[in-house]
Amino acid sequence: MTPKKQPVELEFKPRSCWDVYATKKDRKAMDAMAKDYLAFLTRCKTERETVAYVREKALAAGFVEGVPAKAKTCFRSFKGKTIFLARKGRRPLREGFRLLAAHADTPRLDLKQRPLYEECEVGLAKTHYYGGIRKYQWLARPLALHGVVALSDGRTVEVCIGENEGDPVLTIADLLPHLAQKQVEKKVSEAFEGEKLNIVMGHAPVAAEEGNGRNGNGKRIKRQMLELLHARYGIAEADLYSAELQAVPAGPARPVGLDGSLLGGYGQDDRACVFGSLAAFLAEDTPEHCQIVLFYDKEEIGSEGATSARSHFFEYCLRDLAEVWDKGVKPSEIYMNSKAISADVHAPIDPDYQDLHEKLNSALLGFGPCFCKFTGHRGKVGANDAHAEYVGWLRGVMDKAGVPWQMAELGKVDQGGGGTVAKFLAVYGMDVIDFGPPVLSMHSPFELTSKADMYALALALRAFLRS
Ligand code: MN
Ligand code: MN
Repeated sequence: MTPKKQPVELEFKPRSCWDVYATKKDRKAMDAMAKDYLAFLTRCKTERETVAYVREKALAAGFVEGVPAKAKTCFRSFKGKTIFLARKGRRPLREGFRLLAAHADTPRLDLKQRPLYEECEVGLAKTHYYGGIRKYQWLARPLALHGVVALSDGRTVEVCIGENEGDPVLTIADLLPHLAQKQVEKKVSEAFEGEKLNIVMGHAPVAAEEGNGRNGNGKRIKRQMLELLHARYGIAEADLYSAELQAVPAGPARPVGLDGSLLGGYGQDDRACVFGSLAAFLAEDTPEHCQIVLFYDKEEIGSEGATSARSHFFEYCLRDLAEVWDKGVKPSEIYMNSKAISADVHAPIDPDYQDLHEKLNSALLGFGPCFCKFTGHRGKVGANDAHAEYVGWLRGVMDKAGVPWQMAELGKVDQGGGGTVAKFLAVYGMDVIDFGPPVLSMHSPFELTSKADMYALALALRAFLRS
């Protein structure tokens, strides 16, 4: 008797992660992961804090710093802003690696190098925004200040203001509606000026004799801010010239919705993928292919500089790795046999702005991580366009692992677009595609992901690493 032929699935039906992961066991694991993820988002609000977290996890998992000859797992970080982790595979390095790359920097307000001043009895700090923000979203909300101050003697002071209970927060005052009649007539792009994103940092002046005396210049509120910063961190105004201080939304990441099924918090683009990649990577053992995880900085401003995806850091690390794990191999051989995922978030259809998406080629929250075959804008300009063969291979990996996934592009043709680190990896000759969970309210101070998508993401990334 001839076996009955399996009917071909003629129509593609996307699957909800909530239906796929419906067992008690899955839901329990999903909840546990969500809890860890929210704690991670609450703790890591800058690229430096994220890299420090990853470093800590790597050391705890027995990873060795540097590229020692004997270790099977190692890591290297650079400038505290980018980090490379690797695990040796059974096959030689020349047969290629499996790479997960995500970015750890997020849109925010950086303090200017000479930020402090006072005006109209308010102590203020000037900012220059970093990355693509919608300026009005940063007004009238509690902010915290995170970062470092480098002293001229070589020491670095870590700063964190506004996160602990009892610690005052900072904020940017917004215009009252009564006086906004002219402003509301303006285009959004003109209504909110970058030079008005000044952070309220103080109000009470130092005592009159101190402020006007030998050390004072009559700016008693600014003086008080400096006194407080000095008391807390031992720093003076000149030290701020060599500081990297970032104003970010204050407070913890939290579950959202009556059922807590969404996860809300700052910086999920792209810390969702940092978290997912790290979780997947650390859960693996001795793999077939060498596994690499890379967390970059400066993606949000076009991947410029020494700690970005355009830097040579990755190349340096790989060259050193090849030296000890597969001596004599040509780097080009390794790269061209390798497969990568540019792990970055994607925009799902926004229920309030559905008309900006083309629904056949858009993602939905809860339907799993999204492949984005090509990025770019207006005729795919500036795109990484993943090869069809690679997409076919990846579909096989995901389907075999039973992980729901979606294919999406960012908005309607000529409406949207964007770039990621994928194109900077593609130039080496490795296969690479963008892949990550949908994030609603992306680049806002409070981004939203689906708990189910985050669970699926980690499983998808594990399946890829193991492939
Ligand atoms: Mn991103
Ligand atoms: Mn982004």
